Amino acid sequence: MFAADRYRDRVRIPVRDDLRALEGYHSPQVSVSVRLNTNESPTPPPTAWQDAFAAELSRLEWHRYPDRGAVALRTAIADLHGVDPSQIFVANGSNEVLQTLMLTFAGPGRTVATFEPTYQMHGQIARVTGATVVEGERNDDFTLDLDVVRRICAESSLTITFLCSPNNPTGLVEPEANVRAVMDVAPGLVVVDEAYAQFADWSAISLLDEETPLVITRTFSKTWSMAGARLGYLIGPSWLVAELDKVTLPYHLDAAKQIAGRLALRFVEDMEARVQHIVSERERIQRAFAELALQYWTSSANFILFRPTSLPGRTVWQALLDRDVLVRDCSGWPRLADCLRVTIGTTEENDVFLQALGEVLR
Ligand SMILES: *Cc1c(COP(=O)(O)O)cnc(C)c1O
Repeated sequence: MFAADRYRDRVRIPVRDDLRALEGYHSPQVSVSVRLNTNESPTPPPTAWQDAFAAELSRLEWHRYPDRGAVALRTAIADLHGVDPSQIFVANGSNEVLQTLMLTFAGPGRTVATFEPTYQMHGQIARVTGATVVEGERNDDFTLDLDVVRRICAESSLTITFLCSPNNPTGLVEPEANVRAVMDVAPGLVVVDEAYAQFADWSAISLLDEETPLVITRTFSKTWSMAGARLGYLIGPSWLVAELDKVTLPYHLDAAKQIAGRLALRFVEDMEARVQHIVSERERIQRAFAELALQYWTSSANFILFRPTSLPGRTVWQALLDRDVLVRDCSGWPRLADCLRVTIGTTEENDVFLQALGEVLR
């Protein structure tokens, strides 16, 4: 046909050469009754939050652009952490925070480092911005190998070095000594992704100051029960936040989300209670794991990485799915042969999971 002939050569414009090999982010959303695969909170935010949010939404001036600087939200986050609002950058999920960071400081001709296995999106977003990614290996027990860190920092002129604490998918917290050691040798910026920090007993926030090239990223998706809102932020030196503000799109943070985030911070105690419950459930599941034919990594997050020892990981994943329980299949990921990752759910969901896993492994 005419149009087809005419546009044949350009109807499917090839993507950038450097993006051809990119695979994208895969996390199947299957419809099951027990969904323990994406590290969300198993429970919604408090009813009082929902009421307050609905009340403010009803007064919203939808014909106006939102506050471009998200001042009220930034101030509330800054108060939570005892820092200045100029040290807070906010975006649509911490993934967008990371993307803005990399659009600003990575990109073509620049190099970033990750230590694998770790959160796949660090390397993925860096590659999308055109940066080169150097992947260092962790030790066999998934702790950071400081010799590898030192070698990579000496060999590559890095602009960003990524840490993730607690690390996804291993659940291991990065001890303060390691973060300090990385800061000592990393030539550029050190980013600590703390999406799960409230589940751990240490945060790198204590190491931040205006003279240190360190930033911390956080999200409302996990601890704050607000994955649906897409809200994340960064805490760092104010000069760096000012640079990010130049790169991000105007009005990137919609008015409803600014309200949602600001109101969430009024319910810190509810959030902490939810976190405590999840931590106690995590400990219960780990105790139950000790009785099963599997290896697991002691977690400081709201998920646990484990490796069945009597059956292939993929087989166990499918057998759980057959019992209406969805966990994350990491068995095909580099260095994670046969590994699965389970998100801590409600007490009832965890019971169903443990029951199903016991049946499968026995
Ligand atoms: C879930 C997760 C994020 C989250 O992202 P949002 O975009 O805020 O939902 C960031 N980092 C890590 C390590 C995660 O596991």
